Amino acid sequence: AKSSGRNCSVIFRSGMNDMLERRRQLEADLSDALEQGQFELFLQPRVDAATAAISGYEALLRWHHPERGMVSPADFIPVAEASGQIIPLGEWVLEQACRLLDRIDGHISVNVSPLQFRHPEFLPKLRALLARTGVQPGRIELEITESVLIDDDQRAVLVLNELKGLGFSIALDDFGTGYSSLSYLNRYPFDTIKIDRSFVNNLGQAENAPVIVRTIISLGTGLGMKIVAEGVETIEEALFLAQAGCDELQGYLLGRPKPVADLQREVSAALAV
Ligand code: C2E
Ligand code: CA
Ligand code: CA
Ligand code: CA
Repeated sequence: AKSSGRNCSVIFRSGMNDMLERRRQLEADLSDALEQGQFELFLQPRVDAATAAISGYEALLRWHHPERGMVSPADFIPVAEASGQIIPLGEWVLEQACRLLDRIDGHISVNVSPLQFRHPEFLPKLRALLARTGVQPGRIELEITESVLIDDDQRAVLVLNELKGLGFSIALDDFGTGYSSLSYLNRYPFDTIKIDRSFVNNLGQAENAPVIVRTIISLGTGLGMKIVAEGVETIEEALFLAQAGCDELQGYLLGRPKPVADLQREVSAALAV
């Protein structure tokens, strides 16, 4: 038993080393990825649950790594967040999102990381961006997670109010996955709640899931918020959500994240028939 314990720890340690090495490598590669133009913003549609009309898109970052190919944001966003590289990267995302507004109808939702949100330059940079691009802030929705509110709740609420004052809408992302989602609804009037994919995917599986989803929808609706479900993959999920009063749906069933040029090709193709 002793020797197998030692083996485990050796394997564990070498696993940790591989992971750390991979992170270090990603961090090093990230440092010139922006200048090298290796990032792209994909757009995934959000549709009205009652009419199926596209209301807007979520901007999702893609990294075309020269050797590794496409690296998932689930892998590199945490690295960029830990190293601070998320600050210039997040600015780039917002700038791109503003530019894309010219090429689509509806809104664009942009994910804002906790570090980016708390950065002292976040508000000034956003104001400058609005002035420079002349976009209507009402067409931009900022998606934040509750981790933004955990550390410095009072300052976070001030920043949220400033953003609201500038005309942005604010969405609470990954709703239900945190520790005290309900208390955040009480403290800040979000425009939108995004029900996390894990609840949507459980709809057909876990017995309690439909009750939980219905309750989130009625709670949010009662508070005057728009309810969006993410990760909708099946027609059964879509029908359940629409019937339960969910306002908008997002997920592979309705459309995968794509480059804006592909979206436009689809529109031209549809018009050509
Ligand atoms: P998120 O904000 O929860 O975004 C939704 C994720 O679910 C996206 O993964 C999207 O591609 C994926 N998704 C959408 N529909 C479906 C579906 O039907 N089934 C499944 N299985 N997945 C679906 P993605 O693009 O890999 O992004 C992962 C996470 O990385 C995002 O989660 C977000 O937290 C972060 N992220 C992405 N882009 C940005 C960005 O520009 N800035 C920041 N700070 N974070 C970003
Ligand atoms: Ca999101
Ligand atoms: Ca999510
Ligand atoms: Ca998220």
